[in-house]
Amino acid sequence: MKGITASFPLGCLTAVSGVSGSGKSTLVFDLLASAVPGQGSFRNIEGCAQISGMERVDSLITVDQSPLSRMQRSSVSTYMDLFALLRKAYAALPEAKSRKLVEKHFSFNTPGGRCDRCEGLGQVTVDMHFLSHLQVVCPECRGKRFKPEVLEVRYKERAISDFLELSLEESQPLLQENKKMSALLQLLADIGLGYLQWGQSVTTLSGGEGQRLKLAKELSAPAKGHTLYLLDEPSSGLHPIDVEKLHLLLSRLVDAAIRSLWLSIIQS
Ligand SMILES: [Zn+2]
Repeated sequence: MKGITASFPLGCLTAVSGVSGSGKSTLVFDLLASAVPGQGSFRNIEGCAQISGMERVDSLITVDQSPLSRMQRSSVSTYMDLFALLRKAYAALPEAKSRKLVEKHFSFNTPGGRCDRCEGLGQVTVDMHFLSHLQVVCPECRGKRFKPEVLEVRYKERAISDFLELSLEESQPLLQENKKMSALLQLLADIGLGYLQWGQSVTTLSGGEGQRLKLAKELSAPAKGHTLYLLDEPSSGLHPIDVEKLHLLLSRLVDAAIRSLWLSIIQS
């Protein structure tokens, strides 16, 4: 890139395209990103005369296809805060109150209601000495992750652990009455992630799935102020149907009056 001036409109979805090696990533991720307040100074970048207008951007979110989390404990429903809402619903049941069970007892990530043997994972690791470790179903809770008294509390005739085995789509009819949960479930179904399971670890998601889940979380709880989203080749490796769903999601982000920038490579 030599002797060029580029302008990016705010409040819409912008795609930067060009042949490989033409400097798209440098322009967007090195120059533009560095000019967002709090992201360092663009003056450090040699050859860039000026970047103006960035005072209208409050924060920057970069979405790439890197894994969401390496934490085995982070699942689709905990990541999207769906599980916290479900715990609340369980704790509000008369059955839970009579047993003196509160929200934290319905968590598999904190001690209290979870199975002590597997610490809420539903699996235990068996040391195979010279072979690699083996994961087996927990003999204490039989993979249910919770203590019996917690599992006895039923919502729609289901124990909380039963929800973890349902897909998001399957749980939709059961949770219609809860506005927050049904809105989140509908959003995830719209962007084609309805087949994911509540209890599915985010470490098992593909790059494309993780990217959409991250954007959906943004959409469900938008950051404060004006946010600039930078996406690095969001469509690479995705099936055309998934690209369509990603586009729907990005359009919704734009409709939510936030700014997106789509960097993509035109394949020659
Ligand atoms: Zn267990």
